[in-house]
Amino acid sequence: MSLARGRPYLAIPGPSVMPDRVLRAMHRAAPNIYRGELTEMVPGIVEDLKKVARTQHHAALYIANGHGAWEAAVSNTLSRGDKVLVLATGHFARNWGWMASVMGVEVELIDFGERAAIDLGRVEEALRADIRHEFKAVMAVQVDTSTSVKNDIAGIRAAMDRVGHPALFLVDCIACLACDRFEMDAWGVDVMVAASQKGLMTPPGMAFVFFNDKADRARETADCVTHYWDWRRRTWPDGFYQYFDGTAPTHHLYGLREALDMIAEETLENVWRRHEVLSEAVWGAFEAWGRGVEMTLNVPDRAERSHAVTTVRVGNAKAEALREWCESKAGLTLGIGLGMEPGDHFFRVGHMGHLSAEMIMGALGTIEAGMKAVGIDHASGGAEAAAEVIAREA
Ligand SMILES: *Cc1c(COP(=O)(O)O)cnc(C)c1O
Repeated sequence: MSLARGRPYLAIPGPSVMPDRVLRAMHRAAPNIYRGELTEMVPGIVEDLKKVARTQHHAALYIANGHGAWEAAVSNTLSRGDKVLVLATGHFARNWGWMASVMGVEVELIDFGERAAIDLGRVEEALRADIRHEFKAVMAVQVDTSTSVKNDIAGIRAAMDRVGHPALFLVDCIACLACDRFEMDAWGVDVMVAASQKGLMTPPGMAFVFFNDKADRARETADCVTHYWDWRRRTWPDGFYQYFDGTAPTHHLYGLREALDMIAEETLENVWRRHEVLSEAVWGAFEAWGRGVEMTLNVPDRAERSHAVTTVRVGNAKAEALREWCESKAGLTLGIGLGMEPGDHFFRVGHMGHLSAEMIMGALGTIEAGMKAVGIDHASGGAEAAAEVIAREA
């Protein structure tokens, strides 16, 4: 029988759980897009997004998903034939680099594998070898959602500075903005991309590109830029319609306004801290379940694990069976293994955004039941280990 009749829980790494407050804010009649509340609301949304990104610089808003933000960042900063250095720790950086290459940019990719963060020494070496400064940009993903590896963004900037390399630094924070600590200005990031549907708790459909003046100077000569993706009118619009180069995403804006209010009420520091504690509970559970059996967290080093998503490897090829059981029997949807080795060994737990200890404990208890039901080897004590983390840290 199915025990999935309560509220379903989407524990995939985006889209994330919709808060009722966000849903209620969106549940309204179509607003006027020419004047009044909606048009007056947008400048404040831009300011509050910048606070979440920890930047004093600029933000352009798009009706798009994360892939749209990727294209916007590349098109405003690069020209056909430019060379870039892409630092990959999973599926998403590789794909961002691939998108740049389709746009005519020459991509040099360093692949750091799928279980550890970007090696800063190798980055420094690659930049030092570029004596003619051919790399126009360094592109990296803070949290690669496929592997759940978290990279040291400030460390990459420090490596660039040690070499004195003038490339722009482009960072994808789509998975982890408002989950893992990120400081755009303090960490020397020139362009950061994000989207609405993960830590920002709003349905998929809005994307954000944050950029500084150095990046905007690159926009002067970037020949990949097209009218729609141009960040300038969106950032410094002559009229309201230029924010979105057409009709505004009316209801998304109401949802996003509410989500930003929720973040401000909790404070960004506490949002980060909550994600940290809840992810430590998740790790504690899997570390206990993995004792003596062939189940393991994909990223061995705690410092290199994201607070937004956790990728788990199971020994026997039963990840799909577990996901199927959790969804159909218990109402919990887990994430698929994405871009990992074939063989049905991986699943992911999204723990981003609107999430409480009760939800995480429910998810972990359900996973334990699912492992018993489908026959995934595990030691005992996972939920208990998670409870200990929560009892200690709350
Ligand atoms: C989700 C995600 C993307 C892609 O976002 P879409 O909205 O699916 O286009 C890109 N990068 C990272 C790190 C992500 O987590």
